[in-house]
Amino acid sequence: MTDIKSLFDYEIENLITDNGFQKFRAKQIVQWLQKNVTEFSQMTNLPKQLISFLEENCYISMAKIERKLESKLDETVKYLFSFNDGECVESVVMKYHHGYSICISTQVGCKMGCTFCATGKSGYSRDLTASEMLSQIESAQRDLGVRISNIVLMGMGEPLDNYDNVVRFLKLVSSENSLNIGMRHITLSTCGVVPKIYELADLGLQITLSVSLHAPTDEVRSTTMPINKAYNISELLKACRYYINKTNRRISFEYAMIDSVNDTDECAKILSQKLSGMLCHVNLIPVNSVKGTGYVKSKLERQQAFIDILSQKGVTATVRRTLGSDINASCGQLKRNYKEGGI
Ligand code: SAH
Ligand code: SF4
Repeated sequence: MTDIKSLFDYEIENLITDNGFQKFRAKQIVQWLQKNVTEFSQMTNLPKQLISFLEENCYISMAKIERKLESKLDETVKYLFSFNDGECVESVVMKYHHGYSICISTQVGCKMGCTFCATGKSGYSRDLTASEMLSQIESAQRDLGVRISNIVLMGMGEPLDNYDNVVRFLKLVSSENSLNIGMRHITLSTCGVVPKIYELADLGLQITLSVSLHAPTDEVRSTTMPINKAYNISELLKACRYYINKTNRRISFEYAMIDSVNDTDECAKILSQKLSGMLCHVNLIPVNSVKGTGYVKSKLERQQAFIDILSQKGVTATVRRTLGSDINASCGQLKRNYKEGGI
């Protein structure tokens, strides 16, 4: 069965003309899909034969709301969505002064096994299709009655471990016939799948690349992020420089601060040396404590010490504002609770 919402317009056109239907029907199908129909029989201006053909060969993927949590502290909303096969992922919508932003998932689970991450602890089931990424945004927009203007691929999963579907999604979501969200309003976060950073750089998309660094040395990083054993920090930073040269875009480095693990002055100094002179920004995030990790977030004074030491080398850093802290807005945790029968 073909996932019709993951197809580009010209692919829908090829699919139906190859099967003897007229080309202009493709446009009608695209228009119905934009209206979020859930069944082909709702496409009332199509001939019966075409509807039967679509029903036999294609399906319309959807993201159904299983759970919805709304923050009382801010307007953050967290969803647990299920797909046609029953698999679930999380998405989080946040309101900023410039509009609504959504954090979407790219895989059901993740293979990367970072020790601080709720998703990493839950294992991996499957990749999401491009349409399943789109559907998270469409369902949230419909439910909230708002237009979402920014997307971050920072939910469950490693986007560059699902490269083809993610690139397809980026092209679809930014096209005029779809949600028309420009590449400059999209951020992709990766734990550092180096060969795919090169591939992405060569595509020259104007998205923001966010790299989860979380440690300044291989010694520390390999203990928290297994990917570091495959691609170490120096290889990762080389790929980042290549990305910056190719795209002229500033990279964001994510750094989850964990008490006594990666938050010493020494760590800050090494980090500042490695990032000095690079077109980048560091986002410091006090680590969210996840059951079973034993990690504790760094104290406020450590966060400030990091900012000061980095700025001495001209590296800008800010502490990321925490939204939705009462609903565990960081991804992976809702699904874990749901599966364990907690909510
Ligand atoms: N797999 C990608 C994107 C999803 S994770 C990646 O790793 O970048 C999104 C972000 O949340 C990453 O920066 C990740 O390192 C961070 N993260 C995961 N668990 C966290 C936790 N417990 N506290 C703070 N940040 C966390
Ligand atoms: Fe996967 Fe990212 Fe979590 Fe690591 S931090 S386990 S790469 S989702």
